[in-house]
Amino acid sequence: MPYKKFEEYSIDVKGDIREHYREIIDRIGEDVSRDGLVKTPDRAAKAIQFLTQGYQQDATEILRSAMFKESYNEMVIVKNIEIYSLCEHHILPFFGKAHIAYIPDGHIVGLSKLPKIVDIFSRRLQVQERLTEQILDCINDTLKPQGVALVIEASHMCMMMRGVQKQNSVTTTSGFRGAFKNIETRSEFLKLISEKLS
Ligand SMILES: [Zn+2]
Repeated sequence: MPYKKFEEYSIDVKGDIREHYREIIDRIGEDVSRDGLVKTPDRAAKAIQFLTQGYQQDATEILRSAMFKESYNEMVIVKNIEIYSLCEHHILPFFGKAHIAYIPDGHIVGLSKLPKIVDIFSRRLQVQERLTEQILDCINDTLKPQGVALVIEASHMCMMMRGVQKQNSVTTTSGFRGAFKNIETRSEFLKLISEKLS
């Protein structure tokens, strides 16, 4: 199954991940046997496995499973798709919103699949730049639309909680393929999503 959504409670914890968390908690000077922490290695292991389940999922197959022949050839936009990912440098969350547009070329895709592929690529260790490219490439190579565009705005906990401690900075990445290389088409997309950009 290409997109099997794992629920956190049903995840089979890999024993060694649990043991490694126990070790980390001990090494930072905590008492892993006290009440509040005794089950933490198990919960943390489940959480990290949940948040990285994208490695076991195939985004291309998800898109292929819901492609339909259709002559509609105007811009399709899905705005404000929530993103939760982990930065690969610090394994801390970054989160925000993605806005996707494509112009069909003979095929459309079931709209719920776009947020799903966002999840699949987000639930890995990532940098926002590569996440942007992977989502664009997947849609472009699979659906083969006239064009595809993506804007991601995200806040990075590794900047907010540590390092430069900039709590209000938002990182924006974007990419444009095919018809969106055209300035007018791109401007139309940016105008349409900016109505709700936070
Ligand atoms: Zn980071």
